[in-house]
Amino acid sequence: MQGLTFAPPPPSLAETEALRQDIRAFLAAELKDRTAHQRAASWSGEDPDFSRKMGAKGWIGMMWPKRYGGHERSAFDRYVVMEEMLAAGAPVGYHWIADRQSGPNILRNGTEAQRQTILPKIAAGECCFCIGMSEPDSGSDLAAARTRAQRAQGGWLVNGTKVWTSNAHLADYMILFCRTGAKAEDDRHAGASQFLVDMKQAQKGGMTVRPILDMRGQHHFNEVAIEDLLLPEDALHGKEGDGWSQVTAELAFERSGPDRFLSAFTLLVEAIRALGPDAPDRAAIAVGRITSHILALRRLSRSVAGMLQAGEDPALQAALVKDLGNVLEQDTAEIVRLLVDVEPSEVEGNAPLVAVLAHLIMTAPSFSLRGGTREILRGIIARGLGLR
Ligand SMILES: Cc1cc2nc3c(=O)[nH]c(=O)nc-3n(C[C@H](O)[C@H](O)[C@H](O)COP(=O)(O)OP(=O)(O)OC[C@H]3O[C@@H](n4cnc5c(N)ncnc54)[C@H](O)[C@@H]3O)c2cc1C
Repeated sequence: MQGLTFAPPPPSLAETEALRQDIRAFLAAELKDRTAHQRAASWSGEDPDFSRKMGAKGWIGMMWPKRYGGHERSAFDRYVVMEEMLAAGAPVGYHWIADRQSGPNILRNGTEAQRQTILPKIAAGECCFCIGMSEPDSGSDLAAARTRAQRAQGGWLVNGTKVWTSNAHLADYMILFCRTGAKAEDDRHAGASQFLVDMKQAQKGGMTVRPILDMRGQHHFNEVAIEDLLLPEDALHGKEGDGWSQVTAELAFERSGPDRFLSAFTLLVEAIRALGPDAPDRAAIAVGRITSHILALRRLSRSVAGMLQAGEDPALQAALVKDLGNVLEQDTAEIVRLLVDVEPSEVEGNAPLVAVLAHLIMTAPSFSLRGGTREILRGIIARGLGLR
């Protein structure tokens, strides 16, 4: 993305503090009626109105060029916004994927027309994206994807099925990963491409989005069946056959941010509140350990943000952030469960800690699945260290 993102000098401490106070004042007003239980959803909670308000504040697409609706701010400013949103449990899910990875992908691989039309809508908080990678027989092994796009008169004809597609029922666009050619004898990653799919248009003929309910009975992800969907010629995203390198670059954005270690932050806050100033030593030690791990991960994650801004490829470092972060998020739920003597339950009207703990117990198992499983991340880390 060299030349397309900006690397202004890091802001001064005073500028950062001013930004932080601005965000906190905004959140205090906007979230005053949200319960701790609602905040626990973190970046899985969507609210299009909230996203629009964030867009109006200039807090989406912060590092993108102004000519595409961005704000030419530093990676550090963007980091401050992300962590304040996550720490407060703000409902950022409507724009999160677009801001985190689809927008940067369009900036890098999209056509000029796509940059001019889509990026300003994302930055305004008015555009929701979904990720069309996983398939029924191809999750970890993305190269085994069978969804295929073939050249046809007027564009590309697509057939296949995507699964676990978060927000497909809300999204304006999907970035679809699929096969456009054959795998090479010595390269099973060859012959794949990405497409930018207009979801509303696609559902008029060729695409069916069906809900899948999670363990809590909530509708976040979907099955997306694609049958003879005709995409226009310019739906090809980036270069034909470059799908693998494009998708792996996108995954570094997906895996390295504070969303990968702050998903249980609301629970930590509620636990500290409930334990109070006279918490037993073992509770204080546990809270101290979790907090120090968060601070270490924050430094690692900020370094990866710097590498991304410099146009480097931090696939290994991003996998480390996600794996260590997911362990911490899942441990937080387990440690708090052992520290406090409550019966977790999400029934309306329960004490905040009771409801938030129940929410985390039900959602934490998914943290080390979404965005790449623990075993796959450790394989990437081992390869990056030259161990396999
Ligand atoms: C909440 C949530 C949201 C999601 N949102 C999206 C989305 O928006 N878009 C999208 O495309 N996908 C999404 N996913 C799907 C997610 O990316 C996949 O679930 C994940 O990549 C694992 O794929 P799978 O479920 O097919 O499991 P599998 O790949 O079948 O893996 C099953 C188990 O086997 C292990 N395993 C597999 N291969 C190996 C190996 N080579 N070595 C060692 N162990 C291995 C895995 O680690 C895992 O424990 C989402 C998932 C969740 C839980």
